[in-house]
Amino acid sequence: MRALPAHPENSDTGRALLDPFGRAITYLRVSVTDRCDFRCVYCMSEDMAFLPKRDLLTLEELDRICSTFIAQGVRKLRITGGEPLVRRDILTLFRSLSRHLDAGDLDELTVTTNGSQLARHARDLAACGVRRINVSLDTLDADKFRRITRWGDLTKVLQGIDAAQEAGLRVKINTVALKGVNEEEIETLLEWAHGRGMDLTLIEVMPLGEIDGLRIDQFLPLSLVRARLASRYTLSDLDDRTGGPARYMRVKETGGRLGFITPMTHNFCESCNRVRLTCTGQLFMCLGQEDAADLRAPVRASECDEPLRQAIVDAISRKPKGHDFIIDRRHARPALSRHMSVTGG
Ligand code: SAM
Ligand code: SF4
Repeated sequence: MRALPAHPENSDTGRALLDPFGRAITYLRVSVTDRCDFRCVYCMSEDMAFLPKRDLLTLEELDRICSTFIAQGVRKLRITGGEPLVRRDILTLFRSLSRHLDAGDLDELTVTTNGSQLARHARDLAACGVRRINVSLDTLDADKFRRITRWGDLTKVLQGIDAAQEAGLRVKINTVALKGVNEEEIETLLEWAHGRGMDLTLIEVMPLGEIDGLRIDQFLPLSLVRARLASRYTLSDLDDRTGGPARYMRVKETGGRLGFITPMTHNFCESCNRVRLTCTGQLFMCLGQEDAADLRAPVRASECDEPLRQAIVDAISRKPKGHDFIIDRRHARPALSRHMSVTGG
């Protein structure tokens, strides 16, 4: 795959991206596919219609958009999906983007994955300069895992985590807290993750996309989980806020870090430094709002990056202050029709 397009007007402008609220946009999350080999009950319905392949950005186009963001001051890239590691030849994109790490223009290239394909990709990811990855895992019980993911195989995911750690990748486990499903298992997951030197981050269910069933039946406020954990463990606040939505605590008994992502009970928007690109080139300035800018058109219209750069600058100037998710009985429908697998987690 080719590197940066060699158009004469393409130049590294080095201008920072500032939104209307003075927040510098330094973090881009890129969903490289809407497809997945799992059908997690909180993320997708069993019967999903996926995008036709022609609508997807090619790996070259994805590289070009990411590189234009990097030239505008983005320092961190997270590749996500759908399941990013099921996209064909995805390692080609990692290999190509790693040049920005080598050049010192990018601090971090990372990935969020369900772990199903990690066993075969972990070493290659590490060779591309990936240092830390997030693996989503909601239970250590194989039957429950199958019920939550509908199609997943826990053994494969655990093998993937083993392979990642063997390859030297730091692994963080992401767990969606689900009422009546894994709420009794949070302590077990915590002990297991920390026992293997992995951070654990708990996530509240967000109202994204139509699923089978009601959100209110899945929603478990993390304030409750935290109160319960605090009765058993000594939790102390950490100041490790990376501009992201997670708040971290140290668990004295295990020595590990525990994160809480609480979009529903705690609004994390004021320090938001990120935007999200879908696999069709839509740029979402906020996970919780419908507004998006089309970056595929400027990419396909010209070999010159200037129209793309301008489209990015225009989009950032529309970044809203925050989201307004609501889950309750009166709002049984999703706040947004889009699934998390479209914008990436
Ligand atoms: N397939 C990959 C994975 O599962 O890690 C990457 C994409 S997935 C959409 C990213 C993260 O979003 C996962 O940790 C998943 O658990 C989380 N997620 C998906 N739907 C969600 C929802 N409605 N509310 C909260 N988290 C969600
Ligand atoms: Fe797939 Fe990740 Fe969504 Fe589960 S959470 S269905 S693994 S995209």
